[in-house]
Amino acid sequence: MRALYIGRFQPYHLGHHAVIAQIASEVDEVIICIGSAQRSHELENPFTAGERYLMISKSLRDDDIFNFYIVPVLDVNRNAIWVSHVESLIPPVDVVYTNNSLIERLFEERGYKVHVPLLFNRKEYSGSEIRKRMLNQENWKVLVPEAVTEVIEEIDGLSRMLDLRRCDT
Ligand code: ATP
Ligand code: MG
Repeated sequence: MRALYIGRFQPYHLGHHAVIAQIASEVDEVIICIGSAQRSHELENPFTAGERYLMISKSLRDDDIFNFYIVPVLDVNRNAIWVSHVESLIPPVDVVYTNNSLIERLFEERGYKVHVPLLFNRKEYSGSEIRKRMLNQENWKVLVPEAVTEVIEEIDGLSRMLDLRRCDT
């Protein structure tokens, strides 16, 4: 059995990680799509697809999870063809996991079984909250796996974000 999980992962955090670890323990393989793959260097989308790829793969490997396959997916800006677009990039899947109601609808309309996983500590484990804390130079590291902190430090992600805000104002 193969499952699909989709997110933007700006950045990958402990909420995503808990859900993917759970799914990976239940199925043979998890396909993880990195959505809006073309976006980076924006306050809402600071990290490239490659950087997000590293965050996810290192975090999962650190926890001895290896049954995953990561696929970056560019936006097509046409909801009616988005599922076909994703299908053209991934191996066939039996089930889709998402908390996003539009993604749920689009896949259900195409006949997929969709599961809605529980949210973990959503107030803090949220991409928006982490980006806000980074900009305010508050403690964001407690909300992400250690490997994500390492990737962000390696690419100097915090100063990228502070620069992006300077450019924005
Ligand atoms: P943003 O605030 O930037 O939208 P996000 O935390 O919602 O970030 P996404 O990449 O947009 O993260 O979400 C990908 C998927 O992860 C969605 O289905 C989302 O509901 C799920 N998700 C987000 N936060 C959690 C959490 N705390 N626990 C479990 N799943 C989560
Ligand atoms: Mg979101």
